[in-house]
Amino acid sequence: MPRDVPAWAPWVDAGPCAPGDLRPGYVEGWRYRAPVVDMPRYMGYLADRLAQAGGRLRQHRYASLEEALSEAPVIVNCTGTGARALVGDSSVEAVRGQLVVVENPGITTFFCDDTPEADELTYFYPQSDVVVLGGTSDRGNWDLRPDGAAAADILRRCAQIEPSLADARVVGHRVGLRPVRPRVRLDTENRDGALVLHNYGHGGAGLTLSWGCAREAVDLLHAAE
Ligand SMILES: Cc1cc2nc3c(=O)[nH]c(=O)nc-3n(C[C@H](O)[C@H](O)[C@H](O)COP(=O)(O)OP(=O)(O)OC[C@H]3O[C@@H](n4cnc5c(N)ncnc54)[C@H](O)[C@@H]3O)c2cc1C
Repeated sequence: MPRDVPAWAPWVDAGPCAPGDLRPGYVEGWRYRAPVVDMPRYMGYLADRLAQAGGRLRQHRYASLEEALSEAPVIVNCTGTGARALVGDSSVEAVRGQLVVVENPGITTFFCDDTPEADELTYFYPQSDVVVLGGTSDRGNWDLRPDGAAAADILRRCAQIEPSLADARVVGHRVGLRPVRPRVRLDTENRDGALVLHNYGHGGAGLTLSWGCAREAVDLLHAAE
């Protein structure tokens, strides 16, 4: 169905697709340039940057904030869906998302369905040698195992839009939990003289919001010193 120009269109200088550019089944579309992030590579880059700045990474699951506070006087709590258990925040919900990664058959532009009220999320993002296909959105589902039927459905939907994906070799499956909350929690809390800064609940936009929230977190920490 035709729809109004999306609110985000001016932010990315999006222009309407020419009729010949539209994918099968679509009556309207917008074309624009935007950064696309290859997450595993980006996480590696961030880890290197942290190491170069003198930071150290250690993997450990904390049973409570008190356990973390026994190790440091300032804690930054970025536990995503884990905040539900760690700080007892029942407003945090998991919205599970599944992706399929395939060899890139030569795709150079991304596609993202933006049909309002759509039951399904359909998108694909080329990332040099692979294409990441999506997706799903299952509220309250905490299962991190890929689901075969969901993967087949993602492939079917994407191949309907971009036929070259139909025979692309599958090289991986990814599942993640979007930490959805009515609003992001970005605040400080004093606990027996120690400081906890909470920064969680970014839902399906955590990457988009990451640098802005990080800067605000640093400002909050300086203000609390
Ligand atoms: C399929 C999918 C597609 C997405 N696409 C986009 C997109 O296009 N753009 C965008 O901006 N965002 C997107 N997102 C959302 C984005 O991934 C999240 O908003 C973001 O990952 C949240 O970051 P976070 O660091 O707050 O939480 P998380 O990434 O969930 O990280 C939380 C970390 O805390 C750790 N942790 C939890 N509890 C504990 C504990 N008790 N002790 C120690 N460690 C703990 C976890 O192990 C994890 O490492 C997508 C998400 C999914 C699932």
